[in-house]
Amino acid sequence: MQTLDIHNPATGELIISLQADDAASVAHKAQAARAAQPQWAAVPLAERMACIQRFRSSVVSQLDALALIMTRETGKPIGMSRNELNGLLGRLDFFLAQCAPSTATQTVFDEGGMTEQIQHIPLGLVANISAWNYPWFVGCNVIVPALLTGNAVLYKPSEFASLTGVEIARLLHEAGVPKAVMACVVGAGDVGSALLDQDVDGVFFTGSVATGAKIAQAMGQRFVKLQLELGGKDPTYVCEDADAATAAASLADGAMYNTGQSCCSVERIYVHEKIHDAFVTELVKTVKTFKVGSPEADDTYIGAITRAPQLAVLEAQVADAVGKGAILLTGGKRLPGPGNWFEPTVFSHVNHSMELMREESFGPLIGIQKVSSDAEAVRFMNDTRYGLTAGVYTPDEVRARVLLAQVNAGSVYWNCCDRVSPRLPWSGYGDSGLGLTLSTYGIQTFTRPKAWHLRKA
Ligand code: NAD
Repeated sequence: MQTLDIHNPATGELIISLQADDAASVAHKAQAARAAQPQWAAVPLAERMACIQRFRSSVVSQLDALALIMTRETGKPIGMSRNELNGLLGRLDFFLAQCAPSTATQTVFDEGGMTEQIQHIPLGLVANISAWNYPWFVGCNVIVPALLTGNAVLYKPSEFASLTGVEIARLLHEAGVPKAVMACVVGAGDVGSALLDQDVDGVFFTGSVATGAKIAQAMGQRFVKLQLELGGKDPTYVCEDADAATAAASLADGAMYNTGQSCCSVERIYVHEKIHDAFVTELVKTVKTFKVGSPEADDTYIGAITRAPQLAVLEAQVADAVGKGAILLTGGKRLPGPGNWFEPTVFSHVNHSMELMREESFGPLIGIQKVSSDAEAVRFMNDTRYGLTAGVYTPDEVRARVLLAQVNAGSVYWNCCDRVSPRLPWSGYGDSGLGLTLSTYGIQTFTRPKAWHLRKA
C-alpha cells in the first residue's frame, strides 16, 4: 500500500499518513467510472442539481471544520479559508442556475422541412488534476459543471491539499453522487501520471507551467480534450491620476493575499513617475501592517508558504534583484521555522532583467517599476510569456479601456485586481494556459456540441 504523508507547512508536523492510490487502483477507479457514466448521464438534470444543492448545504453546515482542514494542510490563513468556502457558494449557485439554459438543445434553423439543432452531450469520463492554492475553487470549477453535465470525474487533488480533496469527494458522495461517478485518487505526480494513462475523454489540469507541459506531452498522441490552467506574472499599471493611497492598499492586498500564492496575484507593478514615490511609500506602509503568524489565528494575514522548495525560489529572486540593483524596501528573507515562512517583501527600482519581473514568484514578493508613459507601461505589461490577468488604476474609464484593450491577458481589471467571477470566463494567453473554466463557456466545455441535421420525409 502506498501512503502520502500530509504535513502542516506552518509547523512542519506530520498531520496524517493517508492511504494513497497506485497505478492499479487508478486503473480500477477509471474502469468503474467509465462503466458508471452512462447511467449518471441518464439521471435527469434536476436530480443531478439536487445532489449539488445538498453538497452546497453540507459546505455551509460544515464550513468551519472544512476551513480548518484546508488551513492545516496548506498554511492558508483561516479567515481566507473561510472566504474561499463562502466564495464557493456563489460559484455553485451560478452553475446551478446556468447549467440548464447553457446546455439546452438549441434549434438554430427551422425552414422548409429542414431543422438544425445543437445538442450538448457529456464528454464522458474526465480527469481533473488539481492545484493546492485554492483547492475548493479549482477543484469545483471542474468537478461541479462536469457532474452537472453528466460526466464521470476522476479527481486528483494536489498532494498538498489531499485532505481537502478527500472532503470534497466525501461530501459529494453523501449528497448522492455515486462513488464510481466521482472518484478521488490520492497521491503525487506519479499518480497524476497514472491517471493520464487511462481511457479518459478529457483532461482538465490546474497547476504549474512545467507540469502542464509534461501533461501536454503525455497527451500529445491522443485526441483528447485538454485544458491547462497555468501560472501568471500578472501586471498592473498605476497612472499618475490615480489616488496613490487607494491604489497602494488595493495592490498590496492583490500581491500578498493568500501569502501571494494565487494564480492571479499581482506580481508586477508599473507606476507613472509622477506618482511613483507617493505610491511606493503607501504600499510599503500597508505591507508593514500585514500580520505574519499562525494560520489558525483570526488576525493573521500572511500565513505559511505551502511548499518548502518555494522558499529557495523566493530567495533566489531576492538575491538576483539585489545583485542587479533593485532597492529592497521591506522583508527579503525567510523567517525562522519550524515550518515554511517568508517575510512580505517589496522592491523598487526593478527592471525586466530581473527574475522577479519575469518568472512567477508565488509568494509574498512584489517589484515596483517606474514608467514615464502609457505606451511604456503597455510595452512592459506585454513583455512576458504569461497572460492571465492585468490591471490599470486611473479614474479615467476611457483611458483604462484603451490601455487594457492593448494588453494580452485573459482577464483585465480597472481599479481592482486579484478577482475571479463565476460569471466570467477564466482563461489565459501564452504560457498561462489553454481553454477555460467558469462562465457559461466553462459549463459547455464539459460537453460535445453534437450537430443534428433533420429533414422531414
Ligand atoms: P504543480 O504543477 O506542481 O501540481 C499540480 C498537479 O499536478 C498536482 O496535483 C500534482 O500532483 C500533479 N502532477 C505533478 N506532476 C505530474 C505529472 N507528471 N503528470 C500528471 N500530474 C502531475 O502545481 P501546484 O504547485 O499544485 O500549483 C501551483 C501552480 O498552479 C502555480 O503556477 C499557479 O499559478 C497555478 N494555478 C493556476 C490557476 C489558474 O486558474 N490558471 C489556478 C491555481 C493555480
